[in-house]
Amino acid sequence: MPAQTYLFPCLQDNYGVLLHDTATGATASIDAPEAAAVERALKTKGWRLTDILVTHHHADHTGGIAELRARHRCRVVAPQGEAARIPLIDATVREGGTVRVGSLTGQVYETPGHTAGHISYFFAPEKLAFVGDTLFSIGCGRVIEGTPEMMWASLLKLRALPDETQIYCGHEYTVANVRFALTIEPGNKDLQARADEAKRQVAAGQATIPTTIGEEKRANVFLRADVPAVAAAVGLAGKPAAQVFAEVRARKNKF
Ligand SMILES: [Zn+2]
Repeated sequence: MPAQTYLFPCLQDNYGVLLHDTATGATASIDAPEAAAVERALKTKGWRLTDILVTHHHADHTGGIAELRARHRCRVVAPQGEAARIPLIDATVREGGTVRVGSLTGQVYETPGHTAGHISYFFAPEKLAFVGDTLFSIGCGRVIEGTPEMMWASLLKLRALPDETQIYCGHEYTVANVRFALTIEPGNKDLQARADEAKRQVAAGQATIPTTIGEEKRANVFLRADVPAVAAAVGLAGKPAAQVFAEVRARKNKF
């Protein structure tokens, strides 16, 4: 497979990730949380930065753009819907569009809710998805600029990706997320197993990321708002999934 990834922690609890095309040597940084951390990662791998693929405008995803672009003269690709809020953009993309990283081609999915113009990148042949702050392992982003209905629709788009798709998200929140998810689905065996695994990984200083769509479908309560038992658990049996999702998200906000 010509694609390699390299995940690294940065800022408080962010993840940076590099996507490298071995065929051409091109390397993309998915978001740019912090220039110094991205530089260290590039140096560790001996890779040359050619592109920054931005998922959304928040400062902890864009703060490193100016410095990295000045140093590497890399191309900055960003969501069209947030172009006015992201610095130094070279190309904008939207739903249905594609992005090239060397010989690799990613598809652009608009996944609004956390922010109004948030996008995710899916590299189909490699089964790699970079989802920013839309989907987390056993969690999802806070609905800041959109509505719960919008976020639920975005999560359904990601849930439709192949089960083996590896999911790279923007933060390490898994242990806190499983603690919350167990309050809704205490009997979910896959969630219990994920809780044990995540605790073990964090104790060993390992990342809980990437996760997979298949894993999240089984254990992530935010992707399971249309499961009757989840609706019942929040007192909304028979109600629309978007309403169940909204209730689960509201409970997490207060957790
Ligand atoms: Zn964000």
